[in-house]
Amino acid sequence: MSVALAAGLVISLWVVALALIGASRGRLLAATWREPYVGDAVVVIESDDWGPGPAAHALALDQLLALLACHRDGIGRPAILTANLVMAVPDPEAIVASGYTQYRRRFLDDFPEVATALRAGRAAATLCPQLHGLDHLYPEGLLARARAGDAELRAWFAAGGLDWERLPSPLQGHYVDGSQLPTRSVAAPVQSALVAGGVEAFTRFWGEGPTSAVAPCYLWDDTTERAWAAAGVRYIQTAGYRCTGRGADGRYLQDPPWLVPGNRSPAGPRYLVRNVMYEPRDGRGEESAWAEVVQRVAEAQPAVISTHRYNYTGEQAEAARAGLGHLLARGRRRYPRLRFLASPEWGRWIEQGVVSDPLTGEWPPLTKATRRRKVAAFLRRLYHRHAKVRTVAITTTLILPAALLVFCLDPRPGRGGG
Ligand SMILES: [Zn+2]
Repeated sequence: MSVALAAGLVISLWVVALALIGASRGRLLAATWREPYVGDAVVVIESDDWGPGPAAHALALDQLLALLACHRDGIGRPAILTANLVMAVPDPEAIVASGYTQYRRRFLDDFPEVATALRAGRAAATLCPQLHGLDHLYPEGLLARARAGDAELRAWFAAGGLDWERLPSPLQGHYVDGSQLPTRSVAAPVQSALVAGGVEAFTRFWGEGPTSAVAPCYLWDDTTERAWAAAGVRYIQTAGYRCTGRGADGRYLQDPPWLVPGNRSPAGPRYLVRNVMYEPRDGRGEESAWAEVVQRVAEAQPAVISTHRYNYTGEQAEAARAGLGHLLARGRRRYPRLRFLASPEWGRWIEQGVVSDPLTGEWPPLTKATRRRKVAAFLRRLYHRHAKVRTVAITTTLILPAALLVFCLDPRPGRGGG
């Protein structure tokens, strides 16, 4: 076979592969192209589960925020923690006294050390509050189980009811009833009351309501989204999918399994997506997180780092803080124009194309990725996210010209800008 004939065959194969991908994945390609693309390297730090707790948590938060204050981005702004807040924990004495018939709460201001640390963080611009929930549990479900004599749950109440992470996992959801498996959905008026109660407590504490929210355990449904929208929430933080419940075997039920970043929910708010895991307590440490940060920047996405409170309040807190510090330092070294943003700011940029300092309004704008950078980032997103597209590209060797094209278009992603 001559070289010309072989080359012709290979090129024909590529054309067929492209046609195949286009015909079978046209909607996916269009949706991916319509997503937000940001030219600058952006880092968002998302941390769940801050809220009422012992004085040790206040110290842990102080130490974490002090670390963030040491890391400045390309415009001199300190790193900022988007802290997802639970506004209340149970009041076990009152609940037990009612025979587990009345749910009573203790709010953030009943925990002055933590409240002070949170407010100090906001004043220092190293913390941006976001609503996680009024509670990190479903109150009526817990009461019902305790009334039925659940000894483990009664012991949890007797121990103070502060540490919801010690509850069996299905009981930690807020907007679904996990007192039995499969979980049951929660009626709209009840969900509306939970959302309204959370927003009211948040507003009482901060002086203004939340514009963004993330559901405990990523469990929520259409009803929750309508309640959030009615309460002024504009952005829904996610892990890239939604879980509406858990099955009889405890498995999370994803619906939909795929959320397009920046897309609007039918209720109105936009979805944001976490895409980097720095959860050293779960074995997701610095190196894997750094690899994800580099990949997200190459895809012209913000690196939205998920990192829960328990990494910073337990025995390995010091190592977890050190690892986060290394991540931020590496980010600053690799991307001189790096920008730190809080989640509501990222949402606002998607919606209105602006980011601004709430005090002075003087931050330089973020650039949109356009032309060469956007095309390269688009191809990178397709490759990393979609196994079938990747398989076709590799088996037909289409990956070779595609990789060359990506390299020529955007050889130093995130390090130039635009
Ligand atoms: Zn949580």
